Amino acid sequence: MTERRFACTACGQCCYGVLPLTLHEAIESAGIFPLAMSITVIKAGSRGYSSVGNIGVQIPTKQRKPLSLLVFPVSFIPPSLPCPQLTETNLCSVHENKPLRCRTMPFYPYKDDDHQSEMLVPRQGWLCKTDSDAPVVYRNRQILDRGDFNNERAELVRQAPALQRYINLLTQYDRKTYERIVGTGKASVPGRVLVGFISYVRFNKGLDMLDFAQKQHPILRQWAERTSVDTRFAEYHNFYKNELSVLTRYLD
Ligand code: SF4
Ligand code: SF4
Repeated sequence: MTERRFACTACGQCCYGVLPLTLHEAIESAGIFPLAMSITVIKAGSRGYSSVGNIGVQIPTKQRKPLSLLVFPVSFIPPSLPCPQLTETNLCSVHENKPLRCRTMPFYPYKDDDHQSEMLVPRQGWLCKTDSDAPVVYRNRQILDRGDFNNERAELVRQAPALQRYINLLTQYDRKTYERIVGTGKASVPGRVLVGFISYVRFNKGLDMLDFAQKQHPILRQWAERTSVDTRFAEYHNFYKNELSVLTRYLD
């Protein structure tokens, strides 16, 4: 019998770096998080991703089989910098309304249920309790309290058609990004392709581009300044600067 124990001590250490968001959360938090769209190739037969068909999207390739992708918005923050919602006492300032991803932590509904025990191993520096004082949260390849996990997975399934429409348009009109995605799929460990979240807003006629640009522009400028002096942040700094120049066109 596989049994895993886990308790959160609210150390705040998992509130650093990139945070996956739902589409709704990303649009609602354009005035809070520096946004990006994350695109990752899931190779056929990848361990733990057999149920990805419900939440993933596909793009055609020159080969017979399409390429499976996980596509989701992220708050794109360097791993050593905290979420803007984290307080100085390491507590979440929006605890009652925090993103679904934060509620489900450490479980990860992008992966199959029988791979969730891997998520219960704290990363270096995380102060999660996993000893005998912590409650059993996972038994016989099943999460015991599935409420938050089911809610997040249901939202990922619900938004999958919108992401498929988005990726169809993106890869049709932006062939460079299409080639980058296909290129990462050829690597032994596929990397992540990041594109501006503005590409989702642009392809979605129901969204207000000006409103999005007005909220997101000051956030990207703030993060571009914050990451300008340390070369470790170069990837992030360049991303913010590029996105700022795109957004500026909508504000002029
Ligand atoms: S929203 Fe709250 S729980 Fe989520 S990463 Fe930010 S500080 Fe942490
Ligand atoms: S790292 Fe672990 S203990 Fe710390 S806030 Fe995150 S889940 Fe809780």
